[in-house]
Amino acid sequence: MREIGAGVQISPNATRILRRLGLEQPLRRFGVRPRAVVIHRWADGHVIVRQPLAGACERDFGAPYYHFHRAELLDVLSAAVPEGVLHLDHRCVGLIQHGDRVEVQFHNGATADADVVVGADGIHSTVREATLGPESPRFSGHVAYRGLVPAARIADLGIELVASSWWGPNHHFVHYFVGAGARYLNWVAITPGEWRIESWTARGEVADALKEFEGWHPQVRAIIGSVDATNRWALYDRDPLPRWTVGRVTLMGDAAHAMLPYMAQGAVQAIEDAAVLAKCLEQADAHDADAALRRYEQTRKPRASRCQEGSRRNGVMYHLADGEDQRNRDANLASATTAPLPQNGAWLYGHDVEAEFEQG
Ligand SMILES: Cc1cc2nc3c(=O)[nH]c(=O)nc-3n(C[C@H](O)[C@H](O)[C@H](O)COP(=O)(O)OP(=O)(O)OC[C@H]3O[C@@H](n4cnc5c(N)ncnc54)[C@H](O)[C@@H]3O)c2cc1C
Repeated sequence: MREIGAGVQISPNATRILRRLGLEQPLRRFGVRPRAVVIHRWADGHVIVRQPLAGACERDFGAPYYHFHRAELLDVLSAAVPEGVLHLDHRCVGLIQHGDRVEVQFHNGATADADVVVGADGIHSTVREATLGPESPRFSGHVAYRGLVPAARIADLGIELVASSWWGPNHHFVHYFVGAGARYLNWVAITPGEWRIESWTARGEVADALKEFEGWHPQVRAIIGSVDATNRWALYDRDPLPRWTVGRVTLMGDAAHAMLPYMAQGAVQAIEDAAVLAKCLEQADAHDADAALRRYEQTRKPRASRCQEGSRRNGVMYHLADGEDQRNRDANLASATTAPLPQNGAWLYGHDVEAEFEQG
C-alpha cells in the first residue's frame, strides 16, 4: 500500500461507482476537479480543443471527473475496507485448484483457502502466470518520464486548473493538479525510447527529459525543468488475453487487461471490474462461484479490450508528425461537439456498468 506514481485521473464511469460505495465526501475532499480538458499544439501552444469537464461531467454523465494523488486515493479506499480484511506483506507465490476451493500460497509460508481467488496483482501478475502461463508483452517503444512539483514552485506559470495535454511529433506531455487543495502539479512526458524497465520507482534524468522536448513550448520545458528528480517507466503493450478465468480463479485490473495510459482508463477499468465482480458474486453460492466468475469475464472483457485497443490507437493519434494527417486530426477535434472528447464520450464516461449488469 505504498504510493505508486503520483497522479491518477478518475473519470465519471468510476467516480459514479465510488460514490455508490459511500465515498463521496472523501473523494470531494481529496480530489481535484479539473475545469476542462485542454489540448495544445507542441511548439506554439495553440489550443487544438478545449472541452469543459467540471459541471459538464455531472450534467452529461451524472458523476464528476477527478484528479487524485495516488497515495490519497489509496488511503480513501483502504479506510473504507472493514478492519482485519487487508493482510499486507503476503506475496502470492502459487495457487492450487482443488475443485471446490482454491489454496493460495504466500511467500511467508502462510496459505489460505478460498471459494474464489481474484488476481488483482498488476501488470506482472503471479496469478495470471499461474493460471494462464507466461506471456510476453510487447515493448511499445515509448518511455514515460514522470514528475511531481509543489504548486507554489510553478505559481508564476499561471497554470489553469485543467487537464492539459500537449501533442507533438512522437511525443506528448500531460499535466494536471493533484492532492487535496491542488497542492502539486503532476506531469507525464511520453517520449520514444529504447529503455525497457517497467517500474514505478526507477529514476530518470531531468536533463534527458528536457532534451526530448527541445523546441517545445516554453511552458512545457519550464514544468519539466521545475523538478529535482524524475521517474522513468518503459511502456509495454499487451493484446487482450484470450481469457481471464480458469475454474475458480479470475483476474482483474492490469493483471487482466494492462493497457497503455493513453485513455487514462487503467485504474478506472479496474474499478469497473470490481463493481461488476461484486454483483456477480452477490448472486452466487459457493458451489456455483466458477459460473459467477465466467459471467464477470463475459461482461467485462469486451469493454476492457476496447479500452486496450483505444489506448493503443491514441498513442498513434497523439504523436502524428506535423502534416496533413495532423491538420485533419486537429480540425476534427476542434469541431467536436460531443464532450469531453469524441473518443471518450457517452460510451465510456456515460456508461454505468452496474446498471447494465442489473438490466441483464
Ligand atoms: C504513466 C501512467 C499514467 C497512468 N495514468 C492513469 C490515469 O490517469 N487513470 C487511470 O485510470 N489509470 C492510469 N494509469 C494506469 C493505472 O496506473 C493502472 O491501470 C492501475 O494502477 C492498475 O491497478 P491494479 O490494481 O490492477 O494494479 P496495480 O496498481 O499494479 O496494483 C497491484 C497490486 O498488487 C500487488 N501485488 C503484486 N504482485 C503481488 C503478489 N504476487 N501477491 C500479492 N500482491 C501482489 C502490488 O504490490 C500492488 O499493490 C496510468 C499508468 C501509467 C504507467
